[in-house]
Amino acid sequence: MVLNSEKETVKILIIGSGPAGYTAAIYAARANMDPVMYEGLQPGGQLTTTTDVDNFPGYPDGISGTKLMEDVKNQATRFGTDIRSGFATKVDFSSRPFKVIIDEEKIILAQSVIIATGATAKYLGIESEERFRGMGVSACATCDGFFYRKQDVAVIGGGDTACEEALYLSGICKTVHLIVRKKELRASKVMQEHVARTENIVIHFEHVTQEILGDDSGVNGIKLAKSNGNIIVLPVTGIFLAIGHNPNSEVFKSFVDTDEVGYIKTIPGTSKTNIPGVFACGDVQDPNYRQAITAAGSGCIAALDAERFICEMGLA
Ligand code: NDP
Repeated sequence: MVLNSEKETVKILIIGSGPAGYTAAIYAARANMDPVMYEGLQPGGQLTTTTDVDNFPGYPDGISGTKLMEDVKNQATRFGTDIRSGFATKVDFSSRPFKVIIDEEKIILAQSVIIATGATAKYLGIESEERFRGMGVSACATCDGFFYRKQDVAVIGGGDTACEEALYLSGICKTVHLIVRKKELRASKVMQEHVARTENIVIHFEHVTQEILGDDSGVNGIKLAKSNGNIIVLPVTGIFLAIGHNPNSEVFKSFVDTDEVGYIKTIPGTSKTNIPGVFACGDVQDPNYRQAITAAGSGCIAALDAERFICEMGLA
């Protein structure tokens, strides 16, 4: 590892740039905390991979995910956030100032750190899925379900998320096909019963997705293989992946407590982690809600917590 010997000390370092990170930046900058943000591998976060966002308050006609993130970025810049390209490759939170290494070469010394690195939806990894991403393939029913009103769709997965997405879509779409690779659902009993009671959800147990079918206008079917070798094609226009998320917490795990999946644990009602001065917000600490607006709200909380920490430590 080649490290640039130049070190820089900042009051609040924000790592990650989705709605949580940008909102934290807006609040920290307005509080004169001179925040520095590193945007990470996907500037703007997961929203930049969706199409229209219809459920973010303040946009009665909807807004594209990319435009929404551009707007909040500009808002954070307007108040003086120093937004930079770069990815945290290593951290040392054993003492303050915390040490964060960017792109394996630059060292940032931070009096406080806000982790807003988000989560990454898992995908099946088949070529056709990649081809139709954003053209019928989505990993968020709450975000995109509305575009498939009165249409037939498929949800892939058998956990609580898949059931929740299927139930949400059942209120919008004509038929929801739930594609489950095992003989049973992994979801909680309550959720399973709710799904079983819902007439327009059809469960296909022991089916594995082979291919997503479509043309230039988007998805028009899904090809499934049953465990006995039978192949079926379901005519659907939307396919929702619900096979889990990976929280982007790997680099912090040796210092920050996480749950068994890797979501960073925060003290309920706050953004505080087990390390005083290290805060987490957005999807990296939220296995349940995962919405742009909840991420933004938690980013605000993180900035206020960090600002209070800096003031209490006499570092303002
Ligand atoms: P889970 O890991 O619980 O479930 C993932 C599901 O996707 C499993 O059914 C799994 O199948 C399936 N799967 C994984 N990979 C593939 C693949 N390649 N092809 C096909 N199917 C695949 O993830 P969830 O996101 O559902 O839930 C995460 C956590 O969040 C859980 O603890 C859950 O309880 C919680 N949660 C709670 C909610 C609530 O209480 N309202 C709502 C949403 C989530 P298999 O079973 O065969 O491994």
